[in-house]
Amino acid sequence: MLKNVEQKPAMRILIVEDEPRLQRTLAKALREEGYAVDAAGDGDDGFFKAESCDYDAIVLDVMLPKLDGWALLARLRKQKPTPVLMLTARDAPGDRVRGLDTGADDYLIKPFDLSELLARVRALIRRSAKQTTNKIEIGDVALDTRTRNVTRADKPVTLTAREFAILEYLALHRGEVISRKELYEHLFDENDDTLSNLLDVHVFSIRKKLGAELIATRRGQGYGIEK
Ligand code: CA
Repeated sequence: MLKNVEQKPAMRILIVEDEPRLQRTLAKALREEGYAVDAAGDGDDGFFKAESCDYDAIVLDVMLPKLDGWALLARLRKQKPTPVLMLTARDAPGDRVRGLDTGADDYLIKPFDLSELLARVRALIRRSAKQTTNKIEIGDVALDTRTRNVTRADKPVTLTAREFAILEYLALHRGEVISRKELYEHLFDENDDTLSNLLDVHVFSIRKKLGAELIATRRGQGYGIEK
């Protein structure tokens, strides 16, 4: 189910802009570039959307009803690193500094050329894709904690969700011995006793798919992946 290697997922962009005409123009231009586009007409709706969906970039106007762009950005940054391009109304150096301080990734001053905006959005997405690709390599095994793709010797391997969770947890704690108790607590519901033996089954299955030496068993202590 995670072996989706051929199909590149569409980039999804959120526009938060209260001027209907500008919002429409931006949405149309971005769609023509092949992006999936959502739009919000005020800060509340914008924040709700930004919070509930992982956008590849957000184009955010500063002056907005209900919740302004600054407040939206400040709230968003407590939760997510989604790249944000701020649209500021004028060339006020204070605005610029404030935007970058609050966590904006870039800004554009209105009025702007559409081609300029598209170029900035492309650059934002490119930059953040590099930062947020979370590849962990262990020998010839590679896993991406963002896309949840796993490969062995560059060939895709399908893990179940639980197998992936075990592998990810061990990989993120490389060099440590993770006790069975810690793995249970991380992976299973507290009261789910019936599943306790399944940990061994999952680890067995991961080893079968990715190599027996990947996960070491420390008898009486737990599991670990060597640094
Ligand atoms: Ca506005």
